[in-house]
Amino acid sequence: MSVLEKRGVRQIDALGRVVIPIDVRRSLDMKIGDNVEFFVDSSQNSVTIKKYVDSCTFCGSHEKLRIFENKSVCKNCIKKLSDIG
Ligand SMILES: [Zn+2]
Repeated sequence: MSVLEKRGVRQIDALGRVVIPIDVRRSLDMKIGDNVEFFVDSSQNSVTIKKYVDSCTFCGSHEKLRIFENKSVCKNCIKKLSDIG
């Protein structure tokens, strides 16, 4: 089970933006331009923000990704798909 660690309080601005504290960004190696994804648990009234790491649609690999029809596919899966002809 994961452990939640409180890392500060921030105010939502008029446009709905929240600044991720710099120490949190540094500890997760989040850089300007990186993507994040949101997960909501309504029963806990909580939002989890995760650093988004693109992965292959078929196998979940993060290596050698290409985009096909708006989906990420790794080179290994491209090879397997081409083998089924
Ligand atoms: Zn793959």
